[in-house]
Amino acid sequence: MAQIWLYGLMEEEHAMGRTAAIVGAGPAGLYLLANLLEADAFRQVDVFEAVPAPFGLVRYGVAPDHPKTRTISKVLAAGFEYTDAHYFGNVMVGRDVSLEELRRNYDVVAFSTGMRGDRSLGIPGEDLPGSIGASELVAWYTGHPDAPKVSLPENLQSAVVIGAGNVALDVARILARDPEDLVTTSMPRPVVDTLKASTITDVHVVARRGPAQAKFSSPELREIGKLDGVDVVIDPDDLVLSHDDEAEIESRRQAKTTVKVIGEWSERSPSNAERRIHFHFWRRPARILGVTTVDGVEVEPTREPASTPARPTTLPAQMVVRAIGYRGAPVPGLPFDDASGTIPSDDGRVVDQGRPVAGVYVTGWLRRGPTGVIGTNRPDAGQVAASILGDLPDLAEPEGSPEELAALLNERDAHRLTWEDWHRLESYEAELGRPHGGDPIVVDDLETVLRVIAATSE
Ligand code: NAP
Repeated sequence: MAQIWLYGLMEEEHAMGRTAAIVGAGPAGLYLLANLLEADAFRQVDVFEAVPAPFGLVRYGVAPDHPKTRTISKVLAAGFEYTDAHYFGNVMVGRDVSLEELRRNYDVVAFSTGMRGDRSLGIPGEDLPGSIGASELVAWYTGHPDAPKVSLPENLQSAVVIGAGNVALDVARILARDPEDLVTTSMPRPVVDTLKASTITDVHVVARRGPAQAKFSSPELREIGKLDGVDVVIDPDDLVLSHDDEAEIESRRQAKTTVKVIGEWSERSPSNAERRIHFHFWRRPARILGVTTVDGVEVEPTREPASTPARPTTLPAQMVVRAIGYRGAPVPGLPFDDASGTIPSDDGRVVDQGRPVAGVYVTGWLRRGPTGVIGTNRPDAGQVAASILGDLPDLAEPEGSPEELAALLNERDAHRLTWEDWHRLESYEAELGRPHGGDPIVVDDLETVLRVIAATSE
């Protein structure tokens, strides 16, 4: 009996000596943090984030005019607020610290770096100035410090957004809505000013399938129809339902809602609003036109229309945004599936040529692809945590420790930011928003972020 008790104690001590590093402080990584802390199996869990601020796509993906969705960051922050989990902001794996160094100093290394790139269409003209991926545009208008600053074409009147998902809706809405509505949001001021100066009047959303197959969510779709000063334009021909469409509507509630909402819009009389969002269903882009910059998009039908012959048409555009899905980037030293843009894994265990890479895991979009809403990362993280906890007794102990890794970063003089530093930046951003009577305003350049943190730490 005494021996069993002793073994139990040894096991517990061993378990409590375990450590984990999570790479990426977005929803996927922070839900994993919550799971690992809750399991009480680690003496330390550290989170590494390449940019100063946490929350990943909650901060740099959710549109600034959706502040309610962004409040989830309060829940995601709990791991740092109520425990001594450590935050390593502004520390990029592959730049400031290597994968090998993490593996040498932690029992478990889990990647949750999501997706920041765009899929490409593979059509002529895609690289013309004025053609841009949605992830780049979104990173700019949410104030990601690494995002190139976008300058909208001076003669911008018409933009084409390709894709029928929520990102396409976000982009269409941000481009078409009255920029005065954005003044009280977290959008960086230079972005608001750029949108105020825009002369855009028309945004065309091009979907290769119909409303029944579109991937829009209902609240986001309905919001489009409620925008002040924006008419929604739809060709009723696009809404003729086939047997397949009817089957889709029968089997998917979302399809039914989308078809209903879009059908109602098609019956509205235009109000001669200053701006319009046009939806074009059953069309795919064949070519992006232009010599030195974009001046149009040739679209071709993907099904025979009801009343007009199927032939390509040209949508005038000075700007084209591909909102056809995000793509992950390879992590140096780990396998990567180029076709899906994800890290191959089995229940979150990174798998290289059929064999698990001991102690290395992946969660979130980088594991399952760019699908689902923020909350989808919660069960996903639970599953990965279960794999980690199941493997823990068999994982070899690392040579070093988190303390040694922290010392290494200090020696390298990497500008590591702590959770307290994040709070300093957060307070500064709240002050910026106060005169506008709105949300905290995101600081979008790294130099200012570091300066603010240095100044407020003194
Ligand atoms: P998505 O939902 O997968 O939509 C991508 C769209 O692009 C689909 O309509 C797809 O059409 C189309 N597409 C793909 N390849 C194409 C091609 N070669 N040519 C033309 N069209 C093409 O992706 P997303 O909009 O990037 O969103 C990513 C995830 O984030 C989704 O889970 C989304 O719900 C979520 N999100 C949520 C919110 C929100 O809740 N407010 C906001 C933004 C993003 P097919 O269906 O025919 O493949």
